[in-house]
Amino acid sequence: ATKAMELGYRWLAYSSDLNAIVHEKLQILNDLDQAIAEGQIWVAYQPKMDVRTRHIASAEALARWHHPELGTIGPDRFIPLLEQEGRIADLTLHILKSALVDIANWSLQGHDINCSINVSVALLGDNRFISDALEAISRSTVDNALLTFEITETASIQDLEAAARVLSDLRAQGIKISIDDYGTGQSSLTYLRDFPADEIKIDQTFVRAIIANEADRVMVGSTIAMAHKMHFKVVAEGVEDEDTLTLLSSYGCDVVQGWHIGKPIDANAFGQAFLSCSQF
Ligand code: C2E
Ligand code: CA
Ligand code: CA
Ligand code: CA
Repeated sequence: ATKAMELGYRWLAYSSDLNAIVHEKLQILNDLDQAIAEGQIWVAYQPKMDVRTRHIASAEALARWHHPELGTIGPDRFIPLLEQEGRIADLTLHILKSALVDIANWSLQGHDINCSINVSVALLGDNRFISDALEAISRSTVDNALLTFEITETASIQDLEAAARVLSDLRAQGIKISIDDYGTGQSSLTYLRDFPADEIKIDQTFVRAIIANEADRVMVGSTIAMAHKMHFKVVAEGVEDEDTLTLLSSYGCDVVQGWHIGKPIDANAFGQAFLSCSQF
């Protein structure tokens, strides 16, 4: 009897956890429009450093949500949900428009910072999103060459050819294309072969342990060599210490990003921390 009761309690606890999860999901979906309108969703910028010059010439825009009831929620809690529910276009446009304002401000201060926006691969099949994005870009004073779309893979896409055509169009307009999370999931040799891109971004799960792990070292070193032969620029993410940076530099890695260079911070802090230095 006690065993059965214990199981019963456990089930109750489990189902109320489940309830809480479902409730949070519904709340997030329900609150999205208002959150965008009220500025609860803002952009954090993480610096990317050119390995050879050691200058910060680019940044990645990362979504942050300060929710009035749930507190600050990380992208892992809302991005996959918005993707599943077909709501990611609204968020991505909001991030893009915010970034355009910040890039324009930095340019006014004399600093041309290339900024990456995360674009789910599924959005390449969304004509309305693409035309809204291009309209926002052409309305701003920002030079298209200061924008990179990091193509992030979530669900696998059906029409690789159609996606590749959209990427060609974007590149023809001067926007840079980066293959994000390279080495994980679908983001692999297929993308490298079929997607017109300027850059690949090696996922941090491969980069983080290259000092300790020989297999990771071999994979990262060979990936950089292969990407260079195919004329891609290589960015390594998740660089957390100087030894990792030194090793990546010896492999010819072009750009690094990670806590060792800087954590994601708001636009003002980014301007103060990275753009006021004498190196510019
Ligand atoms: P990602 O594109 O791979 O972004 C890099 C993530 O690694 C960021 O997490 C960043 O804060 C974290 N990171 C950077 N350097 C380090 C490091 O040295 N060590 C460690 N441990 N972590 C580091 P974040 O901001 O939580 O974003 C998570 C993911 O959410 C992103 O992964 C990206 O796929 C997605 N995401 C964020 N913003 C957007 C967005 O506006 N649109 C879309 N579609 N996805 C977004
Ligand atoms: Ca990214
Ligand atoms: Ca423009
Ligand atoms: Ca990644």
